[in-house]
Amino acid sequence: MTNKQAAKEKIEDLRKQIELHNRNYYVLSNPDITDFEFDMMMNDLMVLEKKYPEFVTPDSPTRHVGSDIEGEKSGAFFKQFPHKYPMLSLGNTYDIGELYSFDEKIAKSTEGNYTYSCELKFDGTAICLTYVDGTLSRALTRGDGLVGDDVTENVKMIPSIPQRLKKNSGYPREFEIRGEIYMPYKAFDNLNRQKERDEEQPFANPRNAASGSLKLQDPRQVAERGLECTLYHFITDRNPFGLHSEAIANAAEWGLPVSPYARTVNGIADAVEYIKYWDTQRKSLPFATDGIVIKVNELALQKSLGFTAKFPRWATAYKFKPESALTRLYSIDYQVGRTGAVTPVANLDPVQLSGTMVKRATLHNADQMDQLDIHINDYVYVEKGGEIIPKITGVDKSKRTANAVKPVFPKNCPACGTPLVRDEDEAKYFCPNSDNCPPQRKGKFIHFCSRKAMNVNIGEATINQLYEKGYISELGDLYKLNREKLLTLDKFKEKSADNLLASLEESKKTPFGKVLFGLGIRFVGETTAKSLAKKFGNINNLAGATREELLDTEDVGEKLADSLLNYFGMSKHRRIIEEMKSEGLNFANEVNISGTASEKLKGKNIVITGIFSVPRETLKEFIESHGGKNVSSLSGKTDLLVAGEKGGGSKLKKSEKLGIKIISEEELYKITGARP
Ligand SMILES: [Zn+2]
Repeated sequence: MTNKQAAKEKIEDLRKQIELHNRNYYVLSNPDITDFEFDMMMNDLMVLEKKYPEFVTPDSPTRHVGSDIEGEKSGAFFKQFPHKYPMLSLGNTYDIGELYSFDEKIAKSTEGNYTYSCELKFDGTAICLTYVDGTLSRALTRGDGLVGDDVTENVKMIPSIPQRLKKNSGYPREFEIRGEIYMPYKAFDNLNRQKERDEEQPFANPRNAASGSLKLQDPRQVAERGLECTLYHFITDRNPFGLHSEAIANAAEWGLPVSPYARTVNGIADAVEYIKYWDTQRKSLPFATDGIVIKVNELALQKSLGFTAKFPRWATAYKFKPESALTRLYSIDYQVGRTGAVTPVANLDPVQLSGTMVKRATLHNADQMDQLDIHINDYVYVEKGGEIIPKITGVDKSKRTANAVKPVFPKNCPACGTPLVRDEDEAKYFCPNSDNCPPQRKGKFIHFCSRKAMNVNIGEATINQLYEKGYISELGDLYKLNREKLLTLDKFKEKSADNLLASLEESKKTPFGKVLFGLGIRFVGETTAKSLAKKFGNINNLAGATREELLDTEDVGEKLADSLLNYFGMSKHRRIIEEMKSEGLNFANEVNISGTASEKLKGKNIVITGIFSVPRETLKEFIESHGGKNVSSLSGKTDLLVAGEKGGGSKLKKSEKLGIKIISEEELYKITGARP
């Protein structure tokens, strides 16, 4: 193969990878590589395209910004509007030297003096606000730079963004102001703790949490996310200001949130000083920053410098390398999770990293430990990657001493002693003793009480205590707890005991499908549990079902059928279920839920979109209780689209195209003759 051919293939490969990561990053808010890795990939592509300009195409990711707009396929929810002025991203570099080249280009283009505005680069998601007559009229995401998603209703839920500007403070009749919506570390940690409790995938970092939150379909949920905003770019048709810094200072007077950390400096050397200062100081900020933005401050000079296809020529970003810390690893714990997976966790000499004190870091699995060639007493590099618990990315072998010991991965479960197993295609070792291994048993209670199952208001620490004291051993024991027992727990007063008992009592109303999910039968997820409950009606029918009958159920495959047969084949499980039944839990579908169930929607595939007077989950359950089937995306098989307030524009359009009947929430209630 010629060099040229190889370059062409490399270019195509890089483009594919970059587009994929762009989608993970902007649309799914779930990146699987670091920013640094992404930027390096983009840099490789730019170098190759420069060398082989014949392979440059207009749709190359080097020529357009990554889009946060969801495709039709995923059922886009927000209406889209064009940006009045294109919303570009910034050129960036990890190299101070390149800042001097940036400055040289500016110097060449002007005779006059100029200054720079230096600003922290808040690590969030870009937003463009339009104010008309002092009132917030629209908020758009960056989108693809030309068209953005309309997230106005969600943005109104962010307390620091005023819906009205201060009266008579001299703002132009109509203007745009752009900035960043971000999530401070504290709100981020709270959100991820909540997600872990609910057994949902936590957000990889505060930026993804911010962009994911901004695109929630229910504005009320946005209000609970603790988002903040900082604005940094003012645009209007006839700009009354001469300096960018002046415009921002005025915006602050009008009541808009701006960064208190921005500084105007006289030359690039001072900008570099600013960078050096914040490269260390940012570690004590309560929010994430990923670099410094340097902008030409004179608006006339900005205008004459103009734009490339992707970036303004008058601004650039210096990005900080991912923050890492070096510390000593003094021991390794092998933790057994709820599913039996064994994860090695390193105990470290405490070290400060990205605003928090780090004492533990994950080593993922045995292969990872081998690859790093890690020893106890080694000095290791710790980084905050995607996960909440930081990871170890390297070992400083020059610091290795004679007392370094190579760790041995245990052959037996550290919790119960059972020999560990490893499936061929799994990176992790598992403890197969799911019925008697303490962490797996405790995990069963955590799963059973989780929000998507029985929704019992109990924390992990309480479950651990109850288990240690021997009060709970099987799931049904939860319902045998009383005040006396609960009051023996640490920090448990009458009130918390009564609250827990009330929550357990309330959980008895949980419908059969969720109870079934709560049992934690292997492979039985939330949706499968629902289908099984619907098809078999009660636990006896399900327990007595043949393999064929099971396989005949929606979402049930071979693995799942075997797992069910295995579960119900054990007399112990049948006994546990009988016990819970006698405590009053639902092991059968309720007939006629509060007299409203019907078959009026029987056989109908229904999609819902928009905001309703009741939570979406409630509406979906209502549809099911009337025989309808909830589907998530529109297709030729869809019968009805129920459109709430502010329903996604694209879904409405698509329904019209496909000839799908669109009805309102009220019309749905008319058809069923009932309300949830
Ligand atoms: Zn075990």
